[in-house]
Order: sequence, then structure tokens, then C-alpha cells
Amino acid sequence: MSNKPIRDSYLPYGRQWIDEEDIQAVVDVLRSDYLTTGPAVGKFEHAVASYVGTTYAVAFANGTAALHGACFAADVGEGDEVITTPMTFAASANCVLYQGGKPVFADIDSDTYNIDPSKIAEKITDRTKAIIPVDFTGQPADLEQIKELAKKHNLVVIEDAAHALGATYKGGKVGSISDMTMFSFHPVKHITSGEGGIITTNNEVYYQKLLQFRSHGVTRQSDQLIENQGPWYYEMQFLGYNYRMTDIQATLGTSQLKKINHFVDRRRKYVAMYNEAFKELEEINVPYQDANGNSSWHLYVIRLNLEKLTVSRREIFEALLEENIGVNVHYIPVHLQPYYKQLGYGYGTCPNAEKLYEEIITLPLFPAMTEEDVKDVIEAVNKVLNLYRK
Ligand SMILES: *Cc1c(COP(=O)(O)O)cnc(C)c1O
Repeated sequence: MSNKPIRDSYLPYGRQWIDEEDIQAVVDVLRSDYLTTGPAVGKFEHAVASYVGTTYAVAFANGTAALHGACFAADVGEGDEVITTPMTFAASANCVLYQGGKPVFADIDSDTYNIDPSKIAEKITDRTKAIIPVDFTGQPADLEQIKELAKKHNLVVIEDAAHALGATYKGGKVGSISDMTMFSFHPVKHITSGEGGIITTNNEVYYQKLLQFRSHGVTRQSDQLIENQGPWYYEMQFLGYNYRMTDIQATLGTSQLKKINHFVDRRRKYVAMYNEAFKELEEINVPYQDANGNSSWHLYVIRLNLEKLTVSRREIFEALLEENIGVNVHYIPVHLQPYYKQLGYGYGTCPNAEKLYEEIITLPLFPAMTEEDVKDVIEAVNKVLNLYRK
């Protein structure tokens, strides 16, 4: 076996795709009257709301701030419990802590890797306020069953769809299904605004709270003021934050959103190439897809069949890195992070997620990849498996 890597240049697991039209749009906004929250933010919110099919959308500085806003709008406070999945980025649970609430982790389904509604049901108490399902890798969670549970127990569903812009569930667009849905516009996500996030909702009360929360708890709307001392007057009515998106971010976001269908199509095409190439390999499991959803494929996660291999995930991971393939692991279960352990969480509470974590590798997937890049990844996976299969 030659030691020459499959690729000369490093292929990241994800990255943005910015074209000349995006650049021109941002240059134009830099010459305009507004840099921070101005007309471009409203335009972007309108574009996202109409894309997913909701009445309202509220843009934030990033997706984490948007999740924080959603927890505030859902009235999550001191001692309230919010159920979420451990197989996610820490932000899905941190937003509960920001509000003084308590994240409660419900284990995942071993096929879809999404939160298991029967495990959610076991965790509901009279302190439960909300559920935060995550559409892991872009595959919608079991939204119908989650909605039913929420209805039965009077809970708010805040869907973390950071991975799922462009996905559908039973024919409906993700973003229009839950009480509130969060999308992130970090550069590795489907579209980018640099940093950025948004909440989509059909609920006017949530909408008003989100607007005020992202700007210090301040309102100028005359119908909401407790008194009105004059045209200069505004009121800070609760402790909010400066979580505003800028017009620079929003302009980039609007330009990127025009390309979402093209981006998702390319992701799906590359996933089909991976699935086809790996389907006969006993050493890896390709991602299982539930028939109710149509994923928009933020991530392509393979699961190693360690019984068929002579080494652990770590050696396979390092061998792929040596081939210049930018592999990753999504995710280290949140309840195993040192900070969460210090809060009393830990190993043994979500066995399906803990086991999955030991066996997964994320392969590169992003729309700006070429078919040649995809073929390099396939070749590298085959090369490494040939070295380590039993
Ligand atoms: C990216 C991401 C977030 C946070 O979004 P930011 O815009 O980076 O703050 C939250 N949840 C999940 C699952 C994510 O992937």
C-alpha cells in the first residue's frame, strides 16, 4: 500500500459556497445607510418565513441566541425542565441553562439517531415546559409524535432545525411544523450569513416576545408602552439582550437563500453517490432514513461496524485524516461534556447515544464539493477499510 495520500489538498467536512452575486450584494449594503438592523433584516425575515411557510420570522445574531430567545418566549424559567437530545451541539441544551432551566436528556432512537418520543414521554414531569427536538443531520425528528405529546402535556415545541433548512416532513416544510423552529446560518450550514440564526413561527405572542428579547427588552411600539412621554420615548420592560442581526449578515443571507434548492439538490446527489458506494460494505452502516421525512442532508454520518474491524473508531478516523479527508464526529453527547458532568449529568443515562458516539464518523458533505471530491472520499474509505478489516 502506498503512503501517498488519496488527496494532495485537505477536503473539509463542510464549508460555505459564496458566489459573485453574494459578494456584490454585501458590497452594496456597505454603501447603504444601514449596517446594523435595518431594512435588510426585515427582508431576510420575510424571505425565510415565505420559504418555510410561516407568518413570522425573527432573525438573531446567531442560532444559539435564537434558541435562547425561543426559550424566553416559551416562558422557560428557574427550575423549569426542557427535554432535548444528547446527540446535538451543546447550544440545544445551553439555551435552557441560560434561562435558569434544567435540560433533561432523552435518549435517541438507534436507527434514526433522533430523539425517541417514547423516551421523551418517560421524562415528562409537572415541571416540564418544552421539548427541543433536533433534526439530526437534516433528517426531521418524529415531529408528529412529539407534537402529540406536547399537546397532551401542554408543552411548547422548539425545533432545533440548524441542520434541516430545506427538509420536509410528511410533505410539510420544516420550519412550519413546530411552535417555533430555529435555523442557523453558520458557514457550514445550508446557507450562511457569516454568523446568524432565525426563529420561524405562526404565533404572534412568541413573535412579539422574540423581537423585544433580541433588543434589550426594549419596545417603541405605542400600543405596548405602559406610558408615553413623547416621540423619543421607549421602554425597557424586561431584561433582554443585544442579539440583533446586522444588515450585512441579512443581505448575505437573502442572497444565499435564493440558491437553497440548488444547494440541497447537490447535497442529495452526493449522498446518493456515498450510499451507492458503501451499500455492500459490511464494515459501515449508511444513514437510515425514515419514510416520513425527506432530509436536507447537513451531515453524512457513517456508523462503523466495529466487530468487522481490527481497530477502533479512532484509528479509522486518523487514517482518513492522513488521506487528507476532513472527517469529524457529530457529536460528543452533550451530557458527557465536563461542564454537564459537573452539573450532575453523566455516563449511563442515554446508552443509545453513548454507544453511537463510539462508532460514528462524519464524512465531507457540502454543495461546493465536486464529484471528484466525493470519489476521493469513497476511495479513501475503501483504502482504509482494506487496511483494517478483519
Ligand atoms: C449550528 C448549531 C446550533 C447553533 O447555531 P449557531 O448559529 O452556531 O449559534 C445549534 N444547534 C445545532 C444542532 C447546530 O448544529
